[in-house]
Amino acid sequence: MSKRALITGITGQDGSYLAELLLEKGYHVFGLARQESWYRPNCASHLAGRVDILFGDVTEGVDIVRAVQDAEPDEIYNLASQSRPGESWSRASETLLVNGLAAVRLFEAVRHNRPQARIYHASSSEMFGQTGLEQQSETTSFNPVNPYAAAKVYAHHMAGIYRESYGLHISAGILFNHESERRPLHFLSQKIAYGAACACLGILDSPDRNERGRPMVENGKLALGNLDVARDWGYAPDFVRAMWMISQQPRSQDFVIGTGQLHTLRDLCAVAYRSVGRDWQDSVYSDPALVRPLEPGTTRADPTKAHKALGWYPSVSFEEMIGRMVAAQVKRLQQHS
Ligand code: NDP
Repeated sequence: MSKRALITGITGQDGSYLAELLLEKGYHVFGLARQESWYRPNCASHLAGRVDILFGDVTEGVDIVRAVQDAEPDEIYNLASQSRPGESWSRASETLLVNGLAAVRLFEAVRHNRPQARIYHASSSEMFGQTGLEQQSETTSFNPVNPYAAAKVYAHHMAGIYRESYGLHISAGILFNHESERRPLHFLSQKIAYGAACACLGILDSPDRNERGRPMVENGKLALGNLDVARDWGYAPDFVRAMWMISQQPRSQDFVIGTGQLHTLRDLCAVAYRSVGRDWQDSVYSDPALVRPLEPGTTRADPTKAHKALGWYPSVSFEEMIGRMVAAQVKRLQQHS
């Protein structure tokens, strides 16, 4: 009999890649999705008919209980999130509900209806905030600096508390940034891929608009915030593979997943524009209005535990990932012109 998996957040970047991976492995895949999201184009639209969608909102306890009862899952991947740290300032209550409380409702639903199910919970490197350390591991303390990260810390601790108190098989993956062709345009990496694609095609005023309602690329220029920000960026399909590996562990536990490599935004720009034969310095500038009031410190994964216990390593390099993202944006812009 095939295993059954329930994914919350299936319409998002990770949910869609994970659904593909689980389908390849022969799972019967269920996704919890908001009805209005499922019926508009989303990252998992191409999987319609291959996955069973259960409509619901994770902030509604009754929707979560029904999803767990209907799917009867062996494994649950809790990925639903208000996933933009920058936006969590203006959506602090919603962020707490979706990223914090909803996770606890899921744990409760599992405890009462499906206690044998294994849960993977999506924690985040944003939880580390400002640590003052060069690398972060499973034992590093959290010091969140935005509402997104604070809500994730709450859910992360509750995952541990439910694991210890009720013996539930809950594992949390503390994932560092991971990108792909499916990242929405408002994420930094995709913004830069888009800017490079516009430069490649000679587009001076882009058809897509930024948060301020202006063309994302205006007069041939892309505005970014602090270019010295450095992150540990990996490729999303590699990271969903880690989620599955974590769920297969006999003992539930937490894992840090990241490449262990640090790159600045300048590096990202250089790689993206170079992939289409352009110099980023001709097209990108730093706009002080886009600098975040309080940036998390520099975070870089120490993935030693994932290497040793899971045998997990990333398979796609930073350069290859950015190249793929730029190529996808070039294709998209050509199709829409
Ligand atoms: P996305 O933003 O692409 O996906 C988020 C998903 O959550 C979407 O399917 C969204 O559905 C769903 N969702 C949001 N609110 C609700 C709600 N109220 N009810 C039901 N579903 C909801 O995020 P990613 O795929 O990139 O990330 C997956 C998880 O991993 C998230 O928890 C994120 O915080 C975490 N994470 C991601 C990292 C990354 O770099 N990508 C790094 C570390 C952690 P809808 O389409 O309806 O909006």
